[in-house]
Amino acid sequence: MFHEFGGPEKLRYEEVPEPKISDTEALIRVKACALNHLDIWARRGTRSERIPMPHISGSDIAGEVAEVGRLVKNHNPGDRVLIEPGISDGTCEYCASGWDSLCESYKIIGYETQGGYAEDVSVPARNILPIPGKLTFEEAASVPLVFLTAWHMLTTRAHLTAGETVLVWGAGSGVGSAAIQVSKVLGAKVIATAGNDEKLEKARKLGADWVINHRTQDVPAEVKRFTEGRKANVVFDHVGQATWEKSMRSMALGGRLVNCGVTSGGKAEVDIRFIFVRQFSLLGSYMGGRGELLKVLAFFEDGRLKPVVDSIFPLKNAAAAQTRMEKSEHFGKIVLKV
Ligand SMILES: [Zn+2]
Repeated sequence: MFHEFGGPEKLRYEEVPEPKISDTEALIRVKACALNHLDIWARRGTRSERIPMPHISGSDIAGEVAEVGRLVKNHNPGDRVLIEPGISDGTCEYCASGWDSLCESYKIIGYETQGGYAEDVSVPARNILPIPGKLTFEEAASVPLVFLTAWHMLTTRAHLTAGETVLVWGAGSGVGSAAIQVSKVLGAKVIATAGNDEKLEKARKLGADWVINHRTQDVPAEVKRFTEGRKANVVFDHVGQATWEKSMRSMALGGRLVNCGVTSGGKAEVDIRFIFVRQFSLLGSYMGGRGELLKVLAFFEDGRLKPVVDSIFPLKNAAAAQTRMEKSEHFGKIVLKV
């Protein structure tokens, strides 16, 4: 947990009282919790007004049900579960139409509430889901946030269809490695970028048809070459500022750029002439709906989607785990084992 915002050195490993649960909540004994870039934004104090302090991060939780509130049915102590990371009221117009993340009361567990970098966490019982297939706790923790995000971006937002080509920036990130797999399930052709050859090889193994080193190669030129001049129908971006202009030059006529984050910064120039003449669509995306998470989890039952675990750190080494993420040394999900 951290008591003040700053670098990884602000993370402290300490004793806290066991979380209390309400009648509709459950206490989860955490076995594994995956990192997200969100944890780094939280610790650095970006949008600090949203973070309850002192703060325990961790949005991707897998573990066992330890205790349930008086009104909770269908979940029992000992159940192996993963936790849906988004909390919403479930009753408003947006929730009712599957757009949970637009709900006025939408919160991400471990960001706007206390999270899973802990032995125990309290969560709304309706966020509890069974672990699909034969996934280990570490694998299960690697799934929810990034696969939900990638699914919402590629299906609901960008309407990626079979036979189309998608450019996935930063294949080594959790969401990038999820996007490659989701795109293949949807029948698309995938061009993935990464910053070193080892990551490019891993992207290829996950199903990328073509790979580009975005540090040493000209991404728009390579995209054009692979697609014989047609370029990419969809650009999948979570980098923002650093990739924006190259994304514009990599898009096919009628292309869709879908973005879920700005790890390199949020300011970019838009030449509106490209947008209207080439009929581009610029799409924002944030998390996704419960229905979408249930849909994407089903692909883990038969192994068509696979968790990508980069590395596993003991909980007390959370600072080292976050440093690995900040240095972009990872491919897939970094997981804390509790
Ligand atoms: Zn709602």
